[in-house]
Amino acid sequence: MLETVKTLLFRGDGGVAVHECRRCGTSVETAEAECPACGSNDIVTLSTN
Ligand SMILES: [Zn+2]
Repeated sequence: MLETVKTLLFRGDGGVAVHECRRCGTSVETAEAECPACGSNDIVTLSTN
């Protein structure tokens, strides 16, 4: 089960999901968090692979 979660989060091939504020571009730790810089909760999830 844990491996399934890791695959979903990290794509299993070195790509890492990155969450970024759509308004100001600040990186945040999770998609659920609001931006610490501008308070927006409009967070987009990007993949680096
Ligand atoms: Zn922001």
